[in-house]
Amino acid sequence: MLKTGVVADRRYLKHFAGRAHPERPERAEVMIEMAESLTRPDLRFMAPREATQEEIASCHVAEYIATVARTASMDRFDFDPDTHSSRDSYQTAILAAGGVLTAAEAVMDGAIDNGFAIVRPPGHHALPNRAMGFCFFNNVAIVAKWLIEKRGLKRVMIVDWDVHHGNGSQDIFYESPEVLYASTHQFPEYPGTGSLHEIGYGAGLGFNVNAPMPAEFGDAEYMRVFDRLIMPIGRHFKPEFILVSCGFDAHYRDPLAQMRVTEAGFAAMARRMKRLAAECCGGKMVAALEGGYELEAIVESGRAVIDEFGRDADEPIRPDDGGDRVMPMIERAAQNVGRFWNLG
Ligand SMILES: [Zn+2]
Repeated sequence: MLKTGVVADRRYLKHFAGRAHPERPERAEVMIEMAESLTRPDLRFMAPREATQEEIASCHVAEYIATVARTASMDRFDFDPDTHSSRDSYQTAILAAGGVLTAAEAVMDGAIDNGFAIVRPPGHHALPNRAMGFCFFNNVAIVAKWLIEKRGLKRVMIVDWDVHHGNGSQDIFYESPEVLYASTHQFPEYPGTGSLHEIGYGAGLGFNVNAPMPAEFGDAEYMRVFDRLIMPIGRHFKPEFILVSCGFDAHYRDPLAQMRVTEAGFAAMARRMKRLAAECCGGKMVAALEGGYELEAIVESGRAVIDEFGRDADEPIRPDDGGDRVMPMIERAAQNVGRFWNLG
């Protein structure tokens, strides 16, 4: 059994994005209740710390951070048509980045084997100078920077299986060979980025891997993408730490997107990432909640992933079967990034 840390804190309920907004406090509430109901003795609950200004500034420009900070004295501020703050949003966003940092620190220090951070607001759409898509600060990107700048790592892999493309994470590391960003997402969909042609730039060329898929693809297609693209590239890259942008909005019941992933599908992706982490970096891995807007779906998917994180990494991985219709996309991706990576 592996020791899994779960970051959970009811202060994550304080950010309020507006009435009838899908990114609502209940998302964190039901996830925390689910985690607290788990009876595994090896589960360790952790209270999040706040991210420091320096940590936030590793990914965001000072003027933008100050803009978000000023919203603490406003009942509401509209950053874009989807992204609104309340008085507690700035504090909650700092605690969200800090929550993922808390889990990553505990993994690095050996207190836990891997971690799952139940945080909100999410982060992967947040750009250096701009909030968008319900996101203010890029939680996972801030942790990747921290691992490199403060812990001296040279290779961090971000796997983003949120149904939306993490344009912010891609943007922040687009020219970096230290962070390999790999994303599965519905395409075309919000935010519009994430095409097969976006493969990084300069020193980062080849270190950005997008797997855009049309609506209605599900577990079989996702497994193909993981087994034929993400796992081989990961094995070649040999990350020293894996961060998962863990959205559950590719779930078949999610109201914001049209993919068909099940709870078992999310567990199967988690098993693959756990295997990759075991092979490359002693199992060091942290997943951070991103999207996912159907409460029962995120609870069941979250339970499946946290359970999977606790099981030994050498459990068998069933070979992918079905999913043939995703092969043309995988082949096109291989044409673009295959010259950088041995795809087997
Ligand atoms: Zn999403």
